[in-house]
Amino acid sequence: MDFRLSDEQQAFAQAARDFAAGELEPHAARWDAEGIFPRSTFTRAGQLGFCAIYAPESIGGLGLPRLDATLVFEEMAAVDPSTAAFLTIHNMATWMIGSWGSDTVRENWGPALASGEKLASYCLTEPGSGSDAASLSTRAEKRGAAYVLNGSKAFISGAGDTDVLVVMARTGDAGPKGVSAFVVPADTAGISYGRKEQKMGWNSQSTRPISFENVEIPADCLLGREGDGFKFAMQGLDGGRINIATCSVGAAQGAYEAARRYMGERKQFGQTLAGFQALQFKLVDMLTHIVASRQMVRLAAAKLDAKDPDASSYCAMAKRLATDLCFQACLDGQQIHGGYGYLKDYPLERLVRDTRVHQILEGTNEIMRVIVARQILEKGADIR
Ligand SMILES: Cc1cc2nc3c(=O)[nH]c(=O)nc-3n(C[C@H](O)[C@H](O)[C@H](O)COP(=O)(O)OP(=O)(O)OC[C@H]3O[C@@H](n4cnc5c(N)ncnc54)[C@H](O)[C@@H]3O)c2cc1C
Repeated sequence: MDFRLSDEQQAFAQAARDFAAGELEPHAARWDAEGIFPRSTFTRAGQLGFCAIYAPESIGGLGLPRLDATLVFEEMAAVDPSTAAFLTIHNMATWMIGSWGSDTVRENWGPALASGEKLASYCLTEPGSGSDAASLSTRAEKRGAAYVLNGSKAFISGAGDTDVLVVMARTGDAGPKGVSAFVVPADTAGISYGRKEQKMGWNSQSTRPISFENVEIPADCLLGREGDGFKFAMQGLDGGRINIATCSVGAAQGAYEAARRYMGERKQFGQTLAGFQALQFKLVDMLTHIVASRQMVRLAAAKLDAKDPDASSYCAMAKRLATDLCFQACLDGQQIHGGYGYLKDYPLERLVRDTRVHQILEGTNEIMRVIVARQILEKGADIR
């Protein structure tokens, strides 16, 4: 077992670190405070391939393994988890379109999404169906050569700012097998966007509800076949969970580095904070939990790349572990900063606010346990 990154992977991570230092870090606090969605930054990320890291090369993606994608997202999240997390959602939706889109859809949207010229949202959650996503009620009815969508979605990241929506809607009976996935241009007649949600964090990306009223789209906007949608949505989320977990790892790494620096600078009782064993232990626990989370995330990414039958469980465990441990690491980094950690002059309070939602979305951490419990108790999976 070799845990080292290859020279190419290290160079890729360095490119992401440079991008994060030049394009994200100087602006992250202002984007957060003013709720600015940095559209042109995503276009520049696209020029480096960061908008379609694991999407197929046939649409202009890099076609790289998930593990390589984590290297990029981690570096970005270390300075701006909110912007990095939106980039992960765009990558997930772009991968879905590149993997299962019709020729027309792939030609129309693929290159523009891969280059970051256009951006995508992923639309699964509804006002009445969150954790129980398979109970969604937005309907898509086939009428001649078109589908007509009616219903509503809630909590959609990027909604109102993105160009295309990957929408899960019901074409059949109740349950997961009645769900299909569609690629819907965001400005199609009949789509309306609700109020921008006021959030604790993730402020550099909008979150809005969406309504669909007799929204007509060509039949070739269907991803795969009717009834494939829930399976596709869950496959998208396997990777999405690795990505969100990675954003927590990155943020915690940022908090750790800030805390380590601060402990060497700040003096109390005639010595630097670095001299207090209580804080040394806190810092070491932060580091331990970050390293453990990173390795778990990379293991899950490798399982997903290898199409391991238990990959979904590994992704769920990695998401649960990393988002819990790394949120705590961000809190610990804030605690080490004392009162200054509570001020917006330092990034700690933003890292805390931005990573809290990682325990809630792309499946709550309770649902991550439900997924693994089903596998080990109902299906008898031998996961070790
Ligand atoms: C900022 C933000 C951005 C988001 N972006 C997107 C997006 O881009 N696209 C999208 O589709 N969705 C998005 N979501 C939605 C997100 O995925 C859901 O909020 C999440 O899945 C939880 O659903 P819910 O809010 O309806 O909570 P509920 O499902 O109502 O859950 C409430 C509580 O009950 C618990 N619970 C529910 N069922 C069980 C169970 N079986 N066992 C134990 N506990 C259970 C949950 O864990 C939770 O603690 C976003 C959410 C937020 C906050």
